[in-house]
Amino acid sequence: MPTLALPPRTPDADRRIGVDPRLEAVRTKVLAGQRLSMDDGRLLFSTPDIYTVCELADLVRRRLHGDAAFYNINRHLNYSNVCALSCKFCEFFRKAGDADAYTRDMAYVREQAEKAVEAGATEIHSVGGLHPTLPFSYYIDLIGTIRDTAKRLGSDLHVKAFTAVEVVHLAKIAKVYRIDDRASGIRHVLSKLRDAGLGSLPGGGAEVFDDRIHDEAFKGKIRSDVWLDVHRVAHELGLNSNATILYGHIEQQNDRLVHMEMLRRAQDRALARLGYRGTTHTLDTTGDHPSDHLGYSHDEGAEIPAITLTRPGTDGHGTDGHGTPLPESFALDADGRAKSGYFQTIIPLPFFPDGSELEHLPGPAGLENLRTLAVARLMLDNFPHVKAFWIMQTLPMAQLMLQNGADDIDGTVVWYDITKVGGTSTHQEVSVWTLQKAIREAGFTPVERDTLYRRVTRDGAKWKPTTEAASR
Ligand code: SF4
Repeated sequence: MPTLALPPRTPDADRRIGVDPRLEAVRTKVLAGQRLSMDDGRLLFSTPDIYTVCELADLVRRRLHGDAAFYNINRHLNYSNVCALSCKFCEFFRKAGDADAYTRDMAYVREQAEKAVEAGATEIHSVGGLHPTLPFSYYIDLIGTIRDTAKRLGSDLHVKAFTAVEVVHLAKIAKVYRIDDRASGIRHVLSKLRDAGLGSLPGGGAEVFDDRIHDEAFKGKIRSDVWLDVHRVAHELGLNSNATILYGHIEQQNDRLVHMEMLRRAQDRALARLGYRGTTHTLDTTGDHPSDHLGYSHDEGAEIPAITLTRPGTDGHGTDGHGTPLPESFALDADGRAKSGYFQTIIPLPFFPDGSELEHLPGPAGLENLRTLAVARLMLDNFPHVKAFWIMQTLPMAQLMLQNGADDIDGTVVWYDITKVGGTSTHQEVSVWTLQKAIREAGFTPVERDTLYRRVTRDGAKWKPTTEAASR
């Protein structure tokens, strides 16, 4: 397997040619575990010294996770590619009646769940288009069928399903969505889905939190305030979620920083609900950025607690270096129920123009992908995990990312047809052996996790998490 590699790090980084002295102030903050400002982020994106940016991201990543690198055994199930919208960047959607449009029935779902259990999977990740006519009961059946099939076979499958965009669509088809009180409708459908067995939400559909960009490239999709509302309500219901950022299209680097800042604030609030105590800080809105007028400006300047998980220490075993457990190790109450949810992982997703309406754009290349992931690790100091999603980054690039801020490369995956990198088939699967080999080759110890980042022990296809599962 080809391996991309930076030159070996020198013990004394200051002796390197090309080091950017402006990064010293950022380095000092990172070493002290202080929160980085938007200006710091702008420097991290603009400096030619990407070497130091990556070095700092690696330092933070090792503080949190030592030499552990996570993967899981999972299966993807896209229940339908029929979508009411036609986003410019999307090559996945079809219209009802198109020759290659599909909608899976429950026999298909059951068969896929059986195959997942046979393969020892711990998770089914299920998303799809915004189907114009499927009733809400279809989605309840989808979750129930997966969960019941696993139970019948003496196993368990965590269902991570429905992006925020789909959740809002479900609230609309369930006729509970009201513009003047959208949280109630979102809460209604998420409660029903959770009761049916939904375990967590994936992070898709966030794109980039900027209304101008949304209206240009993702018109019709929910805007940032709605996306954040869906995840806040999910967290309040005890569901964990992930977050994504889709970059490398028509956005500017500063838009990526605004996106990260909005996620960081949302996570501060989620962690505060879990009992974390942070230092009070004022929202950093310095500099001229296009989202000054966006949804979150209503409490601009409001004091909120800054909760950092990336303070200095030498732990690397599930605490933040000061002995404070990472959320996944204390997120259950005495009855085994999730107290409250939070963002587990940030997943930077590069934009692939091929086959979309934005085909004329070049899309990001390797160093841009590496830098964006490293900056995400440094700015999102309250996110426990950063994922190098190998399906979109490629496995060799995911290896390099493990050395520069990422601690997770996702899973074995089968049938990923949201994005086909370089014209690849929708059947994209690697073996556990291949994932472990890639992780070891990058210099880390492979650790199998479940969806909630609990370490997994297994005997063949039989598995269990190292702590009891939450009853959600
Ligand atoms: S990105 Fe999602 S909502 Fe937009 S067209 Fe594709 S499937 Fe539909």
